[in-house]
Amino acid sequence: MRAGPSQEDIRRHNLGALLRHVHLGGPISRAELTSKMGLNRSTIMALTSDLTAAGLVREELPRETGRAGRPSLVVRPESARVYVFAFDVGPDRIAVARVGLGGVILDRRESVRDRGKFELDELTGVLSGFARQMRRKTRADTVCVGAAAAVSGGVRKADGVVRFGPNLMAEEVPFGEELGRRLGLGLPVSVGNDANLGALAEHSRGVGAAVRDLIYLHGDVGIGGGIIAGGHLLGGHDGYGGEVGHMVVNPGGRACGCGSNGCLEAEVGERALLESAGRFRAGQHGRDAVRAVVEAADRGDIVAQEALIRVGDWLGLGVANLVNVFNPEMVIFGGMLREIYLGSAAHVRTRLALHAMAPQRERLRLRTSALGDAATLVGAAELAFAHVLADPLEVLARANA
Ligand SMILES: [Zn+2]
Repeated sequence: MRAGPSQEDIRRHNLGALLRHVHLGGPISRAELTSKMGLNRSTIMALTSDLTAAGLVREELPRETGRAGRPSLVVRPESARVYVFAFDVGPDRIAVARVGLGGVILDRRESVRDRGKFELDELTGVLSGFARQMRRKTRADTVCVGAAAAVSGGVRKADGVVRFGPNLMAEEVPFGEELGRRLGLGLPVSVGNDANLGALAEHSRGVGAAVRDLIYLHGDVGIGGGIIAGGHLLGGHDGYGGEVGHMVVNPGGRACGCGSNGCLEAEVGERALLESAGRFRAGQHGRDAVRAVVEAADRGDIVAQEALIRVGDWLGLGVANLVNVFNPEMVIFGGMLREIYLGSAAHVRTRLALHAMAPQRERLRLRTSALGDAATLVGAAELAFAHVLADPLEVLARANA
């Protein structure tokens, strides 16, 4: 006979669930928590007292209810006190943010990155240096409860090793371990693929907040993807799943950084667009170069328009395949794909009409990222908060020790 969950397990689960409501939804009254969580008033009161005593939330009288009777206390996250570090490593840019409980970006540093080899020492040195600068500015009663990084590449979930990252020129790099050592906070650094974390961010706080089945497509040099199915991120057996950028759409097509040909990334990525538009030159790349093509097309530049049609065509074909397989409610275009989609939406839709099956596309919504360039960083923060949401009191006790 298997024992059921203990009282302690149930309490831990309820504490995490309550904190998650406050973290993702913002200030909420005890009365609303009672109805949302399906627990009685005295249980909610006991849970909020525990979280208040731990310094994770505080309770306040609401400002003005306009209703007679005793108002229900409002539970707020202690955003200025409890925070995580979020890191984002892209081909052209690195960013660090100190993010408070409730998802508030309290402080942020950013730096451009040369598209050269992945220098582990140098990179983790800069990132941890930024974090130290921010930490020096915090009040004495603040507490860091986690750290996580988004990386443009395939990451082994178990230990944060970047297995492959052709666009970062990274291969088998023990990134999470080294960043954790350099930070010296006694905290492990969780590492995730940037597009997966972008999906998580849009699902938690962005355009896909109430959507249980969505696909987030992220473009920088390459194309990444994150698939949320039934409210959960699809990671695959080892965490490498969701690499939609390497879905082959054109077997005889352009060479891809992964070693294959005609991947979605090879046909839609930055280089494909710039070459098609006759604008591929050394040193001219990144978001500004992509934006320049879309703006030129807007102004009536025929070559730029044709480049966008070509890329939009392949993008639509890729999305059609994904829609047929996963039947998402929403597909979200983020990173530079935001600009590319806005510049080629008609062609993406034409391809969908031709290749996606009717039942799958009937209620499909195509959207651009609500969090914009912050999506991957916000996703890293959510990954960093995962531990404290799973076991609030234990993680806080450890952080305070
Ligand atoms: Zn590929």
